Amino acid sequence: MLDEFIHEPRIAYFSMEIALHNDMPTYSGGLGVLAGDTLRSAADMELPMVAVTLVSRSGYFQQQVDDSGHQLENPDGWNPAQWATPLTAKIALTIEHRTVWVGGWLYILKGHMNGRQPIILLDTDFAENQEEDRQITNQLYGGDDANRLKQEMVLGLGGIRLLQASGFEIRQYHMNEGHSALLALELLQRYAYPQENLRPGESKYDLPRVRELCCFTTHTPVEAGHDRFSYDLVYQIMGEFIETNTLKQLAGEESLNMTRLALNLSEFVNGVAKRHAQISRTMFPGYHVRAITNGVHPFTWSCKSFRQLFDNQLPGWCHEPELLMRADCCLSNQEVWQAHQQAKQDLIEDIENLVSVRLDAELPCFGFARRMTAYKRPDLLFSDLNRLKKIASRFPFQVVLAGKAHPRDEGGKRLIESIYQHIEELADTVTIVFLPGYDMEMAKKLVAGVDVWLNTPLRPMEASGTSGMKAAFNGVPNLSVLDGWWIEGCIEGVTGWAIGNSDATDNSNDAASLYEKLENKVLPLYYHERDAWIAVMKGAIAKNASVFNSHRMMRRYATEAYIR
Ligand SMILES: *Cc1c(COP(=O)(O)O)cnc(C)c1O
Repeated sequence: MLDEFIHEPRIAYFSMEIALHNDMPTYSGGLGVLAGDTLRSAADMELPMVAVTLVSRSGYFQQQVDDSGHQLENPDGWNPAQWATPLTAKIALTIEHRTVWVGGWLYILKGHMNGRQPIILLDTDFAENQEEDRQITNQLYGGDDANRLKQEMVLGLGGIRLLQASGFEIRQYHMNEGHSALLALELLQRYAYPQENLRPGESKYDLPRVRELCCFTTHTPVEAGHDRFSYDLVYQIMGEFIETNTLKQLAGEESLNMTRLALNLSEFVNGVAKRHAQISRTMFPGYHVRAITNGVHPFTWSCKSFRQLFDNQLPGWCHEPELLMRADCCLSNQEVWQAHQQAKQDLIEDIENLVSVRLDAELPCFGFARRMTAYKRPDLLFSDLNRLKKIASRFPFQVVLAGKAHPRDEGGKRLIESIYQHIEELADTVTIVFLPGYDMEMAKKLVAGVDVWLNTPLRPMEASGTSGMKAAFNGVPNLSVLDGWWIEGCIEGVTGWAIGNSDATDNSNDAASLYEKLENKVLPLYYHERDAWIAVMKGAIAKNASVFNSHRMMRRYATEAYIR
């Protein structure tokens, strides 16, 4: 079963979540979708990789929202046996002084060309484990700090051991975010010098060798966002896995900081956009943090009508998305408009089926969908309802929103409730719908079917953002705060529009700027200058999609991070 994959050394890609298929809820949001797109591009390029993640048998959660906007969370169970094959190897970890057996499932990701990538889904749900340990890999980001640390042990330590036990030879380990950083500790142990050969004071660990083997992509631009565990908890759960002094030197004196650990044990480190790399260098002085800006998978995120159009006019675009740079000259206005209207019609029908509201195809529609959490500011659009009503009386428009709040993010949940209130308050002037259950399939429909993709994060919190890149593949321009990828992608009036300035921390006038852009730029253009509007749609394809795709991103990882 593994023969096909173990005959050559591979790059091991570790990620807590990976969005492999819409019916496999092994992801929660952007990080997982990025990991999935990474592997989809790797499959198209037939790069020798193997990915490791958790099986998350109960998924992240299924979102329901009641009439008052209250989020209800249900388990999102799935059956791995339906999608993947059990691996024969199992390895043992010691967690809380107990032996915990970790096994895995082999899922084969098939590219839309010929590529096949092996993905290992780690599982602890075995009869030989105690009941509580069988639950470790049950819910993605579920449970308390102790459970999170156990999950990260399974991912990092379990993953690297299971790869070895299954016969994989690994030439490079890529940690997608810090969750898997414990794998580097395992490498330290694996390549430790024998004690008897050491001179007094000499370290038994071969740091340079481990650093050569590891690369690390950080995704979190704020200190508080990094995974951190108290050493009390670490000793309770991991025992004395590695010498205390060494651990504290590598992972932090006060607590075990997974980002620090990964930074210290990786030769190649990168942030996910230029601004994010710059912020990371300020946050972690002394480290060389490079920038590889994220991208999205061309085939996956282009809707059917645009795929057909690109296939006809720009053949080869799927493997060489740079060809899309010709979109502004090679696609006719009529073709682009029709392809978009098709996607809009599909979305309108989907929305009617989901929430029994019928949007008007003639009116411009704004889309906003992402994790519901404070820094994403889904309420910025609603900060002055009178102003919004006034704009809508001149230029009628509609809004579609979606997104899950993490079960323990009370602020995020309150934001969904406040959106429901605004929907009622604006019922007579603006049609606004909130779609429960945001997932990849819904994202595909939304990024293609709305007319403008809106993003209003608090600077500098949006490390990259990727949904706006998906919109660009469908000729949908962004109206967005200058943060993350949009600092690189925005050419005002050509690929979309900026909200506010690009100062990393000045968020004071964003609402005013948003209303001003809507009323004076975006809506008048949509209503009165259709050809100029379509030029912006083409600009998004030609100048955004041609660059912010995961093929370009993977070629950079391959040449800069994997081959050094
Ligand atoms: C793309 C995507 C995201 C990430 O969107 P951002 O704009 O980066 O916040 C989250 N969830 C789903 C389902 C997605 O498809």
